[in-house]
Amino acid sequence: MTHIDPTSPILVTGATGYVAGRLVKLLLEKGHTVHAAVRDPGKTEKLKYLNALAESLPGQIHYFKSDLLTEGSYAEAMAGCELVFHTASPFAMGVKDPQKELVDPAKLGTRNVLEEASRTPSVKRVVVTSSMAAIYGDNVDLKHTPNGVFTEEIWNTTSSLKHQPYYYSKTVAEKEAWDIAGKQDRWDLVTINPSFVLGPGINPHSTGESYSTVKQMGDGTLKAGAPKMGIGVVDVRDVALAHYKAGTTPEAAGRYLTSAHNTDLFDMAQELLPKYGNDYPLPRKPLPKWLVWLVGPMLNPGITRKVVSLNTGFPWKGDNSKIRKELGIEFRPLRETMEEMFQHLIDNGVLEKKA
Ligand code: NAP
Repeated sequence: MTHIDPTSPILVTGATGYVAGRLVKLLLEKGHTVHAAVRDPGKTEKLKYLNALAESLPGQIHYFKSDLLTEGSYAEAMAGCELVFHTASPFAMGVKDPQKELVDPAKLGTRNVLEEASRTPSVKRVVVTSSMAAIYGDNVDLKHTPNGVFTEEIWNTTSSLKHQPYYYSKTVAEKEAWDIAGKQDRWDLVTINPSFVLGPGINPHSTGESYSTVKQMGDGTLKAGAPKMGIGVVDVRDVALAHYKAGTTPEAAGRYLTSAHNTDLFDMAQELLPKYGNDYPLPRKPLPKWLVWLVGPMLNPGITRKVVSLNTGFPWKGDNSKIRKELGIEFRPLRETMEEMFQHLIDNGVLEKKA
């Protein structure tokens, strides 16, 4: 059982990120002092959304310069913290050098942050933002699960540097986290393993994978159709709350599969039709698999032909009973997540009505 003193500062690594933005907002709403570890505290443009929150909310934010690949660079940010949220990790599908761009920052960065926790006497709990990507690699993996559903018991054994390297980076990073946590007993580790995170963040101009997927649904890129590619989806605000509860619930332990909906890309887009179908070129039919195979790599270089073959037309199913029971998380409906993210892009001029 780990009790966190709510007056001690709380470290959030990768505070400029999409997921972290909502977590920082929640922490500030609750009046906490946030130590925000960012690559470049001088880049005020990147920090303006966090600064705006800090101005209007009761908590406080202090910035620290930290890089996943610079050893010791989280020491100052972590000093005095009892609770550490480690969210920083690159989330990108189409990279040129997966070892350098994904695996090194994910794995060595996790080592850097967690070894710092072992050296920092105040730290009692570390919550790592892992991913469903550490549980499965491709939708076909569902067939090899014991009960036809992804759970916390399962690890991704199918991804590699060559195939689904982002998934591989999250798997090796989470394994590294459990290894380091197991070598000491002052702090405990909890992981949050979200599926695809959607919903309005704090920065509408984010260029991450979550934003680009919903943007492509509304900007005409997918007007010919969207693939029936099974996927789990969860709202970013629910993911933020899941992190908070994982950090502050004394009994929280182990991995938490954090996914609200078993859906697919085509069905996700259909949630937008009633409200936005007249004004935006939304996908209205499923793209046949052969066509996805043909055009997928052009839309996103991370969607290779092998990825299309092993994921399109296959369902996705995750069991979220542990997080609902142990952390009391109730998930938002998919329509709310999709509509509010779409509206957030419209309100901020990222999506425009068709002429
Ligand atoms: P994001 O917006 O791209 O955020 C990634 C964060 O990591 C940014 O703050 C980025 O800093 C930081 N970062 C990357 N490389 C770094 C480095 N070398 N040193 C220091 N910081 C570095 O992506 P996100 O979607 O919020 O992802 C956040 C976490 O959630 C990741 O661990 C990701 O794997 C996990 N996750 C995301 C999803 C999803 O669907 N979005 C699903 C499951 C898990 P800069 O701003 O300086 O680039």
